[in-house]
Amino acid sequence: MSDCLFCKIIAKKIPATIVYEDEKCVAFADIHPKDKTHLLVVPREHIATVADATEAQEPLLGHLVVTAKKLAQQASLVGYKLQFNVGKEGGQEVFHIHLHLIGH
Ligand code: AMP
Ligand code: ZN
Repeated sequence: MSDCLFCKIIAKKIPATIVYEDEKCVAFADIHPKDKTHLLVVPREHIATVADATEAQEPLLGHLVVTAKKLAQQASLVGYKLQFNVGKEGGQEVFHIHLHLIGH
């Protein structure tokens, strides 16, 4: 999506502190961290919100969780939160699915 902030970060048209990339997702530092570590794990595919995700996208969503777990292990986090905000009323501000990894 041409006017999507996270699509632009994935395409490296907007700078971000990218910490991990593979064929399915990209992880980068949240610009307003809520803890010592705050990463966003983002699928390359533009899906606006979890509410729009289909069963066919189940493996992709699972991949985000497993990637977040690996990044948490790499950062030696003692504990962390994994969070999807879904919809405006659910606190979602950027409408490209992203999994928050927040911890220390
Ligand atoms: P959400 O409220 O779940 O949609 O989360 C969006 C997150 O994106 C917020 O935690 C923001 O701090 C973060 N954010 C917004 N713009 C940027 C950016 N340019 N680079 C990195 N993170 C961003
Ligand atoms: Zn997007």
